[in-house]
Amino acid sequence: MTDIKKGCDLCGLPVEVFAFTLKTKEGEKLFCCEGCKGIFQLLNEDEILSDPEQDQPSKK
Ligand SMILES: [Zn+2]
Repeated sequence: MTDIKKGCDLCGLPVEVFAFTLKTKEGEKLFCCEGCKGIFQLLNEDEILSDPEQDQPSKK
């Protein structure tokens, strides 16, 4: 059975589309929308693992 429904790791809303994820030291986090993902990133910068597949040029 793969009937596990997970809530957004930021706001707790049920996540239907598994499109907004982040890899962190604690495992993969799942979010309901781009906004929640972005906020989590800001709040947990130290926990986020860099994803080589999304190697975006950083603005420094
Ligand atoms: Zn959310």
